[in-house]
Amino acid sequence: MSTPTPQRQRTAVVIGGGLAGITAALRLADADVRTTLVEARPRLGGLAFSFKRGDLTVDNGQHVFMRCCTAYRGLIDRLGAHDLTDLQDRLDVPVLGLAADGTRSLGRLRRAALPVPLHLAGSLATYRHLSPADRLRVVRGALALKGLRLDDPALDEISFGEWLRRHGQTPATVEAVWDLVGVATLNATADRTSTALAAKVFQTGLLSDPGAADIGTARVPLGEIHHDRARAELERAGVRVLLRAKAAELKAAEPHAVRLEGGELLTADTVVLAGAQDTAAALLPPGAVPGQERFADFGTAPILNVHVIYDRPLIRRPFFAAIGSPVQFVFDRTRHSGLDVPGAQYLAVSQSAVEDEIDLPVAELRDRYLPELARLLPAARDAKVLDFFVTRERTATFDPAPGTAALRPGARTDVPGILLAGSWTATGWPATMEGAVRSGHAAADAALAGTGRLPVDRADGRWPR
Ligand SMILES: Cc1cc2nc3c(=O)[nH]c(=O)nc-3n(C[C@H](O)[C@H](O)[C@H](O)COP(=O)(O)OP(=O)(O)OC[C@H]3O[C@@H](n4cnc5c(N)ncnc54)[C@H](O)[C@@H]3O)c2cc1C
Repeated sequence: MSTPTPQRQRTAVVIGGGLAGITAALRLADADVRTTLVEARPRLGGLAFSFKRGDLTVDNGQHVFMRCCTAYRGLIDRLGAHDLTDLQDRLDVPVLGLAADGTRSLGRLRRAALPVPLHLAGSLATYRHLSPADRLRVVRGALALKGLRLDDPALDEISFGEWLRRHGQTPATVEAVWDLVGVATLNATADRTSTALAAKVFQTGLLSDPGAADIGTARVPLGEIHHDRARAELERAGVRVLLRAKAAELKAAEPHAVRLEGGELLTADTVVLAGAQDTAAALLPPGAVPGQERFADFGTAPILNVHVIYDRPLIRRPFFAAIGSPVQFVFDRTRHSGLDVPGAQYLAVSQSAVEDEIDLPVAELRDRYLPELARLLPAARDAKVLDFFVTRERTATFDPAPGTAALRPGARTDVPGILLAGSWTATGWPATMEGAVRSGHAAADAALAGTGRLPVDRADGRWPR
């Protein structure tokens, strides 16, 4: 009787330790694939990370998620970090409006316990930043948006701004509703956004499940979840995590070979490229993905965060949005950062799609933003600024312009065993943590296809066990 030969353990190298790479590596390790994760930087978390500034722990940029971000929330659970996040019971966004004469008024975008789209009707009916006629226009626009088919390629050809105008929207509705949500989630104004991506955001977030848009945030610095927890969990799952390890070359062979800067050679049956599009363009073997020479055509869009520490508390809520002001969203970061100055408050102003400001000197940004914050928050006029600094992410997201969908590749390449992940790949989502995690699952699903391991159900973020 012959004894069965033990199956050789499959191997994988995941290049990139952002949320896409973390997800792919965990999935592969969970499926008994011997996995190495290489990350060029000294930390995991990619574009969603924290750093130290003296005693403060600072996030590179405020990150939020929504209840509908099932895959990201699934990863949070997988990392045992559920208790490190907050999720609103019901969507509630205070919107502070500033009129040209400096008058302030507070509106609220809140949801009620009613089915879609009535869950927002009450809030919209009393939304102070729109006239009654404009409120009706928003309802009509929302209903038209709800009816769009996301798989219609024509949607990626026109800008959301153009679509909104064709559907009766006014500059006021664009500012007070469509761009208020859209700029923060898509990192571009409606006129510069593909309708396909905008429709994805509004359909999923506001027009699907009533609770879909409830807002979640980390209650600790991002690094505690995306680096500390992720690293511990990866290592517990058996992943070899190499930091400060940049993949310099990928040779397609059997097995594939990844050369790190410094010379170390890693070989693996599966290689997941989980960096951004520039990493894929640099490392993919020629001809691996149709159109890969066009990856360079992907634009990018910046996000700026302006951090101000005041000697006194100025806001009581965790965050608010502003209209009629260059300020977009303001978050209270006091607790997260470990600020240890009695009575002081740390505010982070999160500014998306600020191509014209991203390279301005700090002094100029200070001259712009401090007076603006004082117009929005009168108590700031007498407050002392204890610290002021900025964080700039010049390539925070891909540019969601019309035509982007055609550039985004799926997880599979034409080279067996070489896969793509990253929020820039074809997830249907804009460049978000949710898109990143979904892409990691898609790459892992493709790598594990045919091995008897169940693909993950990304609709609810469940991890196969
Ligand atoms: C300021 C800011 C605010 C944001 N706000 C939000 C928000 O509120 N909500 C939201 O959902 N999303 C937000 N995003 C977007 C979100 O952070 C990203 O979409 C997501 O984190 C991308 O994850 P990723 O894994 O696809 O890519 P990345 O995070 O870019 O990770 C890729 C990793 O690969 C590594 N890498 C690249 N090349 C190599 C190589 N050759 N060898 C080894 N390693 C390599 C990189 O160092 C990097 O760590 C924000 C982004 C920024 C910058």
